[in-house]
Amino acid sequence: MTMLETPPDTQPAGTGLDVAEHLRLTDTYAAHNYAPLPMVAATAEGAWITDVTGRRYLDFLSAYSAVSFGHHNERLLASARAQLDRVTLTGRAFLHDQFGPFCAEVAALVGKQAVLPMNTGAEAVETAVKVARKWGCQVKGIPDGCAEIIVAAGNFHGRTTTVVSFSDDAAARAGFGPFTPGFRMVPYGDPTALAAAISPNTAAVLLEPVQGEAGVVLPPAGYLAQVRQLCTAHDVLFVADEVQSGLARTGRTLACEHYGVVPDVYLLGKALGGGIVPVSAVLADRAVLDVVGPNEHGSTFGGNPLACAVAREVIAILGTGEYQRRARELGAHLRQRLDALVGQGVTAVRSIGLWAGVDVDPSVGTGRAVCERLLAGGVLAKETHGVTLRLGPPLTVTHDEVDLAVDALRCALTR
Ligand code: PLP
Repeated sequence: MTMLETPPDTQPAGTGLDVAEHLRLTDTYAAHNYAPLPMVAATAEGAWITDVTGRRYLDFLSAYSAVSFGHHNERLLASARAQLDRVTLTGRAFLHDQFGPFCAEVAALVGKQAVLPMNTGAEAVETAVKVARKWGCQVKGIPDGCAEIIVAAGNFHGRTTTVVSFSDDAAARAGFGPFTPGFRMVPYGDPTALAAAISPNTAAVLLEPVQGEAGVVLPPAGYLAQVRQLCTAHDVLFVADEVQSGLARTGRTLACEHYGVVPDVYLLGKALGGGIVPVSAVLADRAVLDVVGPNEHGSTFGGNPLACAVAREVIAILGTGEYQRRARELGAHLRQRLDALVGQGVTAVRSIGLWAGVDVDPSVGTGRAVCERLLAGGVLAKETHGVTLRLGPPLTVTHDEVDLAVDALRCALTR
């Protein structure tokens, strides 16, 4: 069977509407804040998505790593189903029986003492900004309202008003001002610039250890260790946004492990919800997280029973090390195959684990054009910043599926 054929027993039921009608409804009634490729998913399994016409596609985006453990992961679905039949939401005014175990398990996973659960990645970042400011004020003695947070150029930390306030992506900001003050931006990978930006009012340095949306940009050798050293020397919190890089994507549970650094605060999201529910988390030791007291921060849905149950299963799965190993092994294979495309429509490849940024030679088309050709060839991927493809399949992908996707990419680059 080729990738484009569908076995008869997996024909999706769907809503009965054809693709054109789905496109019309979406175009007419949905805000145009995305420009989706014209594929309408009906079902999914492992690394494959089947659309409403029964055509199958290899998913090389995996919802930006949120589906790292594969579509329709039976173990994760079973945990969700079991919890659906028990209790799904209490609010944080009461405890529930998944909450304490989740907190203990996720804290142990990253080696921190405590967790503040939220839902989306952007909320985790917002929470970290508040925690860092309050820590700066209460613990470091920065005058209230004067705390500064240093961020890196090219960052992507989400879409809320405060988070886009410290973005340098013009499209993310244009027309959305006024912006939240209190942020300073330095070039990513430049410890000298970081050292120069630190002042007595610096509460935190907030970084993605590997910049995802920027195109899977890896830190220069020694950079994160120097960030750690500067933060320690100046009594500044090192906050690592591992919302996309974390939870096995890079071949380790946390991307920071590759670089031998331990930040003060970890931010997790995406894959923590197993591709089923949004779950994010801010993790730190008590001396940091204890600056937040009752009524000072929270979320109706943060730490809800369903989220905790699924995230606990994600943590248990990570405990086997299987997905970290798969990311390393299949990532090495993907890298080897992608390297062979350099000079054949690709100008550069960067990767870590099963996560690759592929710069497309502008002479073969835009990133979007290549994604459209990939779609026609049965592979789903998304461009970033015009000319870069970001590849990150579910970690359940097989050796042969990696080959299928890279073969399709080779064709998409030569058409
Ligand atoms: N932080 C990083 C590093 C991300 O890559 C993203 C999303 O891509 C976010 C934060 C925001 O996550 P969410 O879309 O769940 O708000």
